[in-house]
Amino acid sequence: MKKERVVIIGSGPAGLTAALYTARAQLAPVVIAGAQLGGQVAITHEIENYPGFPDGLSGPELVERMKEHAENFGAVFEFDLVESVDFSNGTPFHIKTMGEEYLADAVIITIGADPRKLGVPGEEEYTGTGVSYCGTCDGFFFRGKDIVVVGGGDSALEEGIFLTRFANSVNVIHRRDELRAGIQLQTRAFKNEKISFTWNAVVDEILGGENGGVNAVRLKDTVTGEETLHPTDGVFIFIGHDPNNAVFGDQIALNENGYIITDQRYRTNVEGVFAAGEIQDEIWRQVATSVGQGTSAAMAAIQWLEEHEAELQELDEVAAA
Ligand code: NAP
Repeated sequence: MKKERVVIIGSGPAGLTAALYTARAQLAPVVIAGAQLGGQVAITHEIENYPGFPDGLSGPELVERMKEHAENFGAVFEFDLVESVDFSNGTPFHIKTMGEEYLADAVIITIGADPRKLGVPGEEEYTGTGVSYCGTCDGFFFRGKDIVVVGGGDSALEEGIFLTRFANSVNVIHRRDELRAGIQLQTRAFKNEKISFTWNAVVDEILGGENGGVNAVRLKDTVTGEETLHPTDGVFIFIGHDPNNAVFGDQIALNENGYIITDQRYRTNVEGVFAAGEIQDEIWRQVATSVGQGTSAAMAAIQWLEEHEAELQELDEVAAA
């Protein structure tokens, strides 16, 4: 098994940027990209808030450009999934993917977070044909339609407001009678004539019609338990995210929500393992913030490798003997 200087787990904006920086530092990073390049960005129809692209560009185009940029400096991409890691003995770290095993002096984790699912009948069946987790990606397909948004946080209101660009009406379904979202977004949502609210309700089932799309949700009142049918053309779900921490088990320190804990230098509790992007940032979730974090984590890893050069060489010699 060949030893790499740096292995990057994940290929969203944080991972792609970390790949560029470590590649330019002559470290020939290996990026374990997952099944699809770009993570969540790959399913983003248009990105209008990434600086330097005043006309916007699609998520897939942005991540393809970032990949090409990193490859030009020597980054290597493997479309593979990590099955397990062993960080217990310190560096070199052991990473097992579905097709390969790696040893790495340093690891940068940028594996992201996935949108949380409701887990109700019809959700999986209609994903892509009426159920969505991304307003930016799918709003366009709901021009002139009546849709519902599930959730009461910042994402639900921000995306709900965005969706009024396309939809005829947006009904926000929230399980309580008080929103979690910040006051500014609340004010904007309450002022928006296309937005209405259904309070104290959860979606119990998503129902479809003969056209293969969604035509209603079954709602349950969280106070009375009463069930009602609410006609709708689409269901946008924004109930938070789950960090992709499963492969790390108890080997890395996580916060109470399952996100990797890092310090200002994007160091985890394991020396030589760094993390950036949505696996450690549960607040901002922007391409631009992930790019910045990926840069910082890469620079910290480069510095750490330089500082420990002699030690790492000694370990290599012991392993070779
Ligand atoms: P969040 O703040 O965790 O809110 C999730 C919402 O979904 C909550 O209202 C929650 O209800 C509801 N929910 C959770 N599980 C549910 C379920 N199974 N069924 C029905 N409803 C459910 O998540 P988020 O809105 O994605 O925001 C995540 C972070 O990003 C936050 O820190 C947020 O401030 C930040 N963010 C900021 C902005 C911005 O500032 N512009 C935009 C987006 C996100 P309860 O309220 O009852 O728990």
